[in-house]
Amino acid sequence: MTHSETLFEQAQKYIPGGVNSPVRAFHGVGGTPIFFKRAQGAYLYDEDDRRYIDYIGSWGPMIIGHSNPLIKEALHAQIEKGIGYGAPTAIETEMAKKVCELVPSIELVRMVNSGTEATMSALRLARGYTGRDKVVKFEGCYHGHVDSLLVKAGSGALTLGLPNSPGVPACLAELTLTLNFNDIDDVRKTFRAIGHEIAAIIVEPVAGNMNCIPPVPGFLEGLREICDEYGTVLIFDEVMTGFRVSLGGAQGLFGVTPDLTALGKVIGGGLPVGAFGGKREIMEHIAPLGPVYQAGTLSGNPLAMTAGLATLNAISEPGFHDALTLKTEKICAGLKAAADEAGIPLAVQGAGAMFGFFFSKESSVTRFDQVMECDIERFKKFFQGMLAEGIYLAPSAFEAGFTSAAISDEDIEFTLNAARKVFATL
Ligand code: PMP
Repeated sequence: MTHSETLFEQAQKYIPGGVNSPVRAFHGVGGTPIFFKRAQGAYLYDEDDRRYIDYIGSWGPMIIGHSNPLIKEALHAQIEKGIGYGAPTAIETEMAKKVCELVPSIELVRMVNSGTEATMSALRLARGYTGRDKVVKFEGCYHGHVDSLLVKAGSGALTLGLPNSPGVPACLAELTLTLNFNDIDDVRKTFRAIGHEIAAIIVEPVAGNMNCIPPVPGFLEGLREICDEYGTVLIFDEVMTGFRVSLGGAQGLFGVTPDLTALGKVIGGGLPVGAFGGKREIMEHIAPLGPVYQAGTLSGNPLAMTAGLATLNAISEPGFHDALTLKTEKICAGLKAAADEAGIPLAVQGAGAMFGFFFSKESSVTRFDQVMECDIERFKKFFQGMLAEGIYLAPSAFEAGFTSAAISDEDIEFTLNAARKVFATL
């Protein structure tokens, strides 16, 4: 037995399914999850002393690589001064100022502790602000395990075949209308019927929880127009895309401005952080300024702010995202070429430092139903083959891949050589 197998056996005695977040259990690919003991730069090291090139990056946060000295030194210095005070600190303002500078649609921002909290709070605020209850989301998009949003959800919910979770009251789920991603006519039709009852549209501007699907031209622009027409709050869930697809997130990349934005992952540099922010007029409805309640014992804690700020400062260096996007494009082009060589139909697509590949005959995948038609069995074989070669990809056909600045040209070459080998066996 490997150390990972032994540790997984022990974990299952005390933790449901042996994991603290479902996708980690490898249900999407089979086999035993790998237990890690160390990470440095582009690499993860498992309990059996094997090295992997990491294309998950702790599900997004590690955009400047693991154990980055900038983050570690800043954290050590903060620990010397105290771990947390539950009271205002200067670093929270520094963080808020930085977020407002990088994402101009954000005029006021509130820190929370996860992406789930960010979307949950943004949704409550949109409902409180508009006085309406209904919300629109898109099938296959995942916005954390918020009751109202665990309806036709992507990510682990989709991987495990649980897009609609028991435990979400039917009367709440009824208020969530789920439409087709990238289908603006679907949205217009719904709004023509009941637009004035809809508090918010929440969307992943690049869908990253049903693999990786960029918006088709006109989709985000259309959502903006519709929200303006009906007085509906447009929420971009940029938990995944924020600071990743460009320094200003997807809204920076595509030039469409939401009313509210949910952030997570990169903003915490690997510590538990989320944030939501947006138009001053809407954000002023949050307590203590306004009546919409939202709070958090550990929100804005100095360790989390320190790790996040160190990350945001590092990625603000000129050219950071251009270089990372180039690397990502090189990986995508290399994967496609390797698949073509082996005669395997593969669609590869991405945005900035985010990518996805589909075992599909389509040249590009833009819709949820196309995602569901992909060859999942082939994905599983590819995943296991790559894992054996020391490449750590997301263990589900419904998750995007993430690159980090620590990945070198040699790492990319190593990855593509592995892919060539594995494609030849499929
Ligand atoms: N929104 C999106 C787009 C996400 O990808 C995720 C997590 N993968 C979340 C929200 C939830 O974030 P968290 O897991 O930090 O609660």
